[in-house]
Amino acid sequence: MPAQILDGRAIAGKVIEGLKEEVGALKAKGVSPTLASIMVGENPAIEVYIRSQRRAAEEVGIEYQLHKFGAEVSEEELASFIDRLNEDRNVNGIILQLPIPQGLEAATRLQERISPEKDVEGVSPANMGLIVYGRPRFVPCTPAAVMELINSTGVDLYGKRATVVGYSEIVGRPVALLLMDKFCTTSVCRSSTSKRGELRDYVERAEILVVAIGKANLIPGDWIAEGAIVIDCGINRVGDKIVGDVDFEGAKERASFITPVPGGVGPVTTAMLMRNTVEAAKWQLRG
Ligand code: NDP
Repeated sequence: MPAQILDGRAIAGKVIEGLKEEVGALKAKGVSPTLASIMVGENPAIEVYIRSQRRAAEEVGIEYQLHKFGAEVSEEELASFIDRLNEDRNVNGIILQLPIPQGLEAATRLQERISPEKDVEGVSPANMGLIVYGRPRFVPCTPAAVMELINSTGVDLYGKRATVVGYSEIVGRPVALLLMDKFCTTSVCRSSTSKRGELRDYVERAEILVVAIGKANLIPGDWIAEGAIVIDCGINRVGDKIVGDVDFEGAKERASFITPVPGGVGPVTTAMLMRNTVEAAKWQLRG
């Protein structure tokens, strides 16, 4: 039987509906949740993300502040701007849109400068560390979206065999920790797994498969175990189409649940950013 499609837009819509009520309650207490977004230089791909974040924020009732800087701005100037946002009691969440022209190392230093209480992307060492200890504050948005999608299936995760393909700080690693926290027996694959010719083995044994590689259709449909839950984080442009890392057409014939690309993980990721911003506002209100 073909898989049930996990409709990310519908799941995100439900999250947004719930958040609207929470924002209403916060506004009644005089708090207007505010997300400050920093963009450096010109980048059409980032503009697309910003538009969808702004749209989601408007729906929820979050104020979305966009702070644009020219590509020539110095790291020091950006750092002192972040310091100002950290101090500003009217700003609840801060997001630095990546990449920035100043490079990866500068980006990491600037992200670390964001106060952990306002790091609604969950990328600071403090927030990542809390995941290791099993008491997350702000879960990074894409891993949070992966878990939201898996939870939406209603499947009991206890003891399930999970495979995560990809080991990045922002997706693969936190997803693996979150699955282990749900008592999944979790394998993590990276390039070295493929080079040993073992990727297929790990994919075939997965009852829960999460893929975050960034290579179009790298996982063929016939590798997917019958009845698996497949969450595809990949976003790859092929001609004028966007496709995932998993061959969707083949995989949907074998999986029990599968995310489409686009329309799966992406919209839920944006909704998770909104959820983290609302949580930040609640947390800051409690002091
Ligand atoms: P990275 O490039 O940071 O990491 C990719 C990972 O894939 C690495 O750990 C790498 O292994 C692994 N990998 C690469 N090739 C293979 C292979 N042949 N076999 C097994 N593993 C392999 O990517 P990200 O995690 O940032 O992103 C992954 C994908 O998810 C991208 O398409 C990105 O656009 C998308 N994405 C989507 C988001 C959303 O909101 N929907 C948000 C973030 C990302 P190694 O470390 O050994 O090199």
